[in-house]
Amino acid sequence: MTERTLAIIKPDAVERHLAGKIVQRIEDSGFQIRAMRLVRMSKRDAEGFYAVHRDRPFFKSLTELMSSGPAIVMALEAPDAIKKWRTLMGVTDPAKADPGTLRKEFGQSIERNATHGSDAPHTAAYEIGYFFAGIELI
Ligand code: UDP
Ligand code: MG
Repeated sequence: MTERTLAIIKPDAVERHLAGKIVQRIEDSGFQIRAMRLVRMSKRDAEGFYAVHRDRPFFKSLTELMSSGPAIVMALEAPDAIKKWRTLMGVTDPAKADPGTLRKEFGQSIERNATHGSDAPHTAAYEIGYFFAGIELI
């Protein structure tokens, strides 16, 4: 089933000039990019985006990172896009991610792990809507 997911190239990866390599991997893997934008989140924007994690010990540091510089937000489409993108990213901690995954290759720590991906259809819908209006989805 064709599906959409929200992908982010996080500020740590944009700052290290890894955006081009990551977009190349996305295209090579067969995703259609339905929307894409450079965005500088405020602290409040990042807190809203990660609201499900507000009680976690890493929330303050994570939202500081996400608002520290520009990120690239994308709506990706493919059959089974949510799982497919999480597989390409690898698990949250780059040290535990499989070889060849984006987080293994480009992540520096469990927090500075280069990319974000939605984890379920309802979160994908919320997260795509957080950044893109319907008219921006091609
Ligand atoms: N994170 C962190 N420490 C942790 C767990 C998560 O700094 O112990 C950060 C990390 O950047 C991660 C984000 O918080 O990508 C969201 O956490 P989640 O558990 O949703 O992981 P993801 O879905 O991104 O793999
Ligand atoms: Mg998550």
